[in-house]
Amino acid sequence: MKLYIIANRLPVKVANPDGTFVFSRSEGGLATGLDSLQTSYEKHWIGWPGICTNKEKDKVEINTKLEEMNFHPVFLSDANIKNYYEGYSNSTIWPLCHYFFAYTLYKYCFWQSYQEVNQLFCDEICRLVRPGDKVWIQDYQLMLLPGMLRKKYPDLCIGYFHHIPFPSYELFRILPERAEILKGLLGADFIAFHTHDYMRHFISAVERVLHIDFKLDEVQIDNRTVRVDALPMGINYELYHKASYKPEIKQAIDRTRKLFGNHKLILSVDRLDYSKGILHRLHGFATFLEHHPEYHNKVTLAMVIVPSRDHVGSYAELKTKIDEEIGSINGRYSTIDWTPVCYFYHGFSLEELTAMYYVADIALVTPLRDGMNLVAKEYVATKYENTGVLILSEMAGAIVELTDAIQINPNDTEQIENAICQALEMPEKEQKERLKRMQAILSVQTVNKWATDFVNEMNTICAKNEWLR
Ligand code: UDP
Repeated sequence: MKLYIIANRLPVKVANPDGTFVFSRSEGGLATGLDSLQTSYEKHWIGWPGICTNKEKDKVEINTKLEEMNFHPVFLSDANIKNYYEGYSNSTIWPLCHYFFAYTLYKYCFWQSYQEVNQLFCDEICRLVRPGDKVWIQDYQLMLLPGMLRKKYPDLCIGYFHHIPFPSYELFRILPERAEILKGLLGADFIAFHTHDYMRHFISAVERVLHIDFKLDEVQIDNRTVRVDALPMGINYELYHKASYKPEIKQAIDRTRKLFGNHKLILSVDRLDYSKGILHRLHGFATFLEHHPEYHNKVTLAMVIVPSRDHVGSYAELKTKIDEEIGSINGRYSTIDWTPVCYFYHGFSLEELTAMYYVADIALVTPLRDGMNLVAKEYVATKYENTGVLILSEMAGAIVELTDAIQINPNDTEQIENAICQALEMPEKEQKERLKRMQAILSVQTVNKWATDFVNEMNTICAKNEWLR
């Protein structure tokens, strides 16, 4: 029997060097966690392969190559990417779930395309699924899919994980399609979120929009029980914790140390996104420099920004503002031998990134909203017998576990400034004690445990539902 993992994007990198497609596995957190999941079920993935093509010949070639890896492609058109992915997913749902409702765009063609693509995924699952198989759907791009599948297969075991915040009812009710989305999600047997707060918001939205009452964490829909839970996603702890022992990472650590000399290094790493609070962070750092000349030429902020969704208007505007702000700080404070903000607008390899984590004295993580924030967890995990201070926004899901971080409200520039000072002055003993306590949590709540817990709880509720039928 099979466990189908359904995600907007398959965990593959595509290259097309001399006219033939070459696929390699990409090692995102989700893919790693699911690879190490111990289950008697054969694991298969269904998702978009990352390329648009109208040529039947290409589709056949892609399909054949991917099926060898137990990956099943859902082909999306350019119009789907524009309206379902960049449109409804990233210009309607994403800003709404991150409390940026002024950024939320509504276009009927977005909603139409979202329904169409969810149906395409449903058709592909229906083509493959057999009695006894299970389906685990990932994230906000596919919220209608559980309901669509349930109509076709009343007995199928379906789970759904929501990787971004679920907003409070007052935000969620703004969505014109709020009832359809909730009904879609309730097609699953088991629905999970990173935090208890997101789960409570979901329950409250169901109760108020659909007038269906939950009993604690369960609700009765027709002849099924739907259960909800909070399961915070973790990281591949060992990979990061043991990283500084690997020869290639040791070399990268030496290179990074040389690059930043004996400056105190503050690190920030994000995808380009307005939810990450990048401008607030820069304002906090600028205020810190203004009020603390004693730290000039002694502290450098290394800012890694990974390009993302640059076809969406709000992202392009944000990029311009970040460039301007960094230019302004560096223009004002740089000296011949010191550039206060060292700016990288590209992704880093795992080796380079872990070396940066290892060397950085401070990680400054200031999202205005973030479902979880894995960067904060990776930074803490990498600090093997080392010092370092995590400054973390109270608006990130990760704060629930990382309570030994210096917590800040990212909307308050003064708090960012004070947190930087506190981190720079924190005794090494306290740094190590805080890191140890956080590492104790992260080493247990790994991504593998997250996936195992999800599948076990999904199996339990599906078994109960089967028994009731
Ligand atoms: N990351 C990466 N290369 C980079 C920067 C980030 O591989 O140059 C990875 C990072 O290790 C982390 C992920 O991107 O696992 C970002 O996850 P997070 O939850 O912090 O934010 P998201 O982008 O999912 O909103």
